[in-house]
Amino acid sequence: MASSSSSDVVPAVSKKLVGKVAVITGGASGIGERTARLFVKHGASVVIADIQDDLGARICAELGPEVASYVRCDVTSEEDVAGAVDHAVARFGKLDIMFNNAGIGGAACHNIRESTKEDFERVLAVNLVGPFLGTKHAARVMVPARGGCIIATSSLASTIGGVAAHPYTCAKRALVGLTENAATELGRHGIRVNCLSPAAAATPLSTGYVGVEGEVFEAVMETVANLKGVGLRVDDIAAAVLFLASDDARYISGHNLVIDGGISVANTSFGIFN
Ligand code: NAD
Repeated sequence: MASSSSSDVVPAVSKKLVGKVAVITGGASGIGERTARLFVKHGASVVIADIQDDLGARICAELGPEVASYVRCDVTSEEDVAGAVDHAVARFGKLDIMFNNAGIGGAACHNIRESTKEDFERVLAVNLVGPFLGTKHAARVMVPARGGCIIATSSLASTIGGVAAHPYTCAKRALVGLTENAATELGRHGIRVNCLSPAAAATPLSTGYVGVEGEVFEAVMETVANLKGVGLRVDDIAAAVLFLASDDARYISGHNLVIDGGISVANTSFGIFN
């Protein structure tokens, strides 16, 4: 688990989110947790919205009640998502950044003949309906405020087939569509909408999916990577979220930021560069 030390304190002049308020779904673990920590380092206040109450509350206590607050939120429940957005406004006065990040893997749907309708719909509910609800309720408060930034975690599966389960792939591709459509509608209100599509970095979701952890996980990823000598870390993904959330990306909207070391654009089966 990442924690602050004096060596990774961001100098005040370099902070990118001073005074901003963010809701991070799935913020109790993995990419969401790391992003919450990075956002706070950069001067933001965060609401961690998750279903892992103990973990979420512990991270917020560690970050400090003045800048972090936990709210239980199942992203498949509209009431919960609306409540998380309202909690941010009540607790910190506004909402600048909505990070629709909560997700599940869907390993039960690897074999389409054995996949059940319930398993398929469950993944769509968390990975697609969740971000829809997050986008809807963020827009509810961002439109009157005439600005904001909405980011969703899609996946490498949004760009190529065969890297994840069927409903996961469907949900992550649909997220790109939602991102483009919402960016089109909300741009007139000064709201940017983007998503990011990482390849695999070690989190409970990804290691559970592959069935191996730690160095073995990294070794497996190294064999499928296009870019060699560097592995994708959760910190790389959090840094991309920070970029999209900050003024560094002030004119970027409707974009799917692919973080895959070039896997999705490479087809080595022709052997031209071997
Ligand atoms: P993770 O398991 O560490 O975190 C996912 C979080 O989502 C958990 O805290 C979990 O409690 C929460 N969550 C699950 N269902 C929820 C629900 N119904 N309501 C609210 N919260 C819920 O996994 P992660 O890898 O950090 O995943 C974050 C996002 O990144 C997911 O959308 C995932 O699909 C995506 N992603 C991950 C990778 C990767 O390699 N780790 C790659 C591409 C995309």
